[in-house]
Amino acid sequence: MANLYVTKLEGRSGRQLAYRLVHGCDLLEALQGIVEEDDIRFGSINFLGAVQKGRVGYYLQDEKRYITLELDQGMEILSGVGNVSLKEGKPFVHAHVTFLDKEGKVHGGHLLPGTIVFAGEVFIEEIELPAPPERVYDPVTALTLWE
Ligand code: ZN
Repeated sequence: MANLYVTKLEGRSGRQLAYRLVHGCDLLEALQGIVEEDDIRFGSINFLGAVQKGRVGYYLQDEKRYITLELDQGMEILSGVGNVSLKEGKPFVHAHVTFLDKEGKVHGGHLLPGTIVFAGEVFIEEIELPAPPERVYDPVTALTLWE
């Protein structure tokens, strides 16, 4: 049978954390600051709320680079999902987000700095492992993925 996955990790539930974000903060910087401050090295993140504007990336797989989408309007965060793992030995947030605009259209992508919070609620579920995975450069995708 072909390999089903590259990496398998099995840990235990750690801290269950919740946060209300500050109006006007940068969403990704807030998530990154939280995991650093609370030393969360591996786990899942989910969040919802609303933004004053959004900024997300879309990865061009053939060119192996991100383009940036500027979403310059207030929107609902329908769904925000992410994880935290180690990159260069430090906690690193990777998050994707789905927004809804006032016409009922959905936008989304890879969360970038420049997404400004109107209101935000965040849950983080820490997973405890003896050795949390490190993100390393993957030559096939040109992304930094779990080793
Ligand atoms: Zn991504």
